[in-house]
Amino acid sequence: EPDLAERIAVKLGARDTRKVVHALDGVNLTIRRGEVVGLVGESGCGKSTLGRIIAGMLPPSEGTVRFRGKDRASLRGQEARQARLETQIIFQDPMSSLNPRKRVVDIIGEAPVAHGLIPRKDKAALVAGLLEKVGLDPSMRDRFPHQFSGGQRQRIGIARALAVNPEFLVCDESIAALDISIQAQVINLFMQLRQDLDLTYLFISHDLSVVHHIADRVVIMYLGRVVESGPTEAIFASPNHPYTAALLEEVPRIDRRHRSFQPVKGEIPSPINPPSGCHFHPRCPFAMDRCRVERPALVPVGGGQEAACHLNDLAERPRFTQTNNRE
Ligand code: SF4
Ligand code: MG
Repeated sequence: EPDLAERIAVKLGARDTRKVVHALDGVNLTIRRGEVVGLVGESGCGKSTLGRIIAGMLPPSEGTVRFRGKDRASLRGQEARQARLETQIIFQDPMSSLNPRKRVVDIIGEAPVAHGLIPRKDKAALVAGLLEKVGLDPSMRDRFPHQFSGGQRQRIGIARALAVNPEFLVCDESIAALDISIQAQVINLFMQLRQDLDLTYLFISHDLSVVHHIADRVVIMYLGRVVESGPTEAIFASPNHPYTAALLEEVPRIDRRHRSFQPVKGEIPSPINPPSGCHFHPRCPFAMDRCRVERPALVPVGGGQEAACHLNDLAERPRFTQTNNRE
């Protein structure tokens, strides 16, 4: 089974203050065809930047993004166009990405015609089929974006992404702006589409509970670094990093109507000038002297999980989920 994005190794200059925030530091991620990877972290951790780099929208200042084994930056002409079409990105706010003056039929049908995937005369039929696929009435294709609800607009955004036959979708907080009840429906749609169309996803969210239901594998980022990754069930059953454990404590809050997401005690430090050693040490209830000076490496910790925490060197690791309860 070939890798879709065979090996994504990204490293951005962590000290380039002109780049403002979202610096990535030695991130190394592989996504396999058919897989759903959840990328989780607080705002400013670099997950959106990573998503854009993986999607080919932003060149990495260092490192490479390999798509089907080839460096994205080295692709030219038809191959570059193909790679761009095969990776689509779906953002949080569908309204800002849908042209308010265009009808849905043009919003969705424009790209496949422009790229020569279908003749213009087939546009309306293609769009009708796509609307049906995302759970909208095909007769809605002549309406404008403002005539739809937020959830419907996100479905239009998804249909537009699907119109060019992508294999890989980067979903950046794609359901974050929706009501909780609508979120579940759109997640179900993503899962259904995965099955029907054999899609691969990078599902970016600040909310671990969102990716629980959709991701095969979870990658947790903190201030530009991956701190833990592994199979979703393993991460939920036994986190190997105090930050993951703290995020997990917040999971039941999905039930609260008006969540304010402040998952972990303490301010998020500036990504421009992150703390020394382990970036998490000022907020970590387990921090040791070593943590202030020495960066923990991301290493295998069993069960397919990897974690970057000095506690994993100790003979007896604290049980994170029991001890980090702050309420
Ligand atoms: Fe906490 Fe130290 Fe582990 Fe960082 S390395 S998460 S500060 S225990
Ligand atoms: Mg973001």
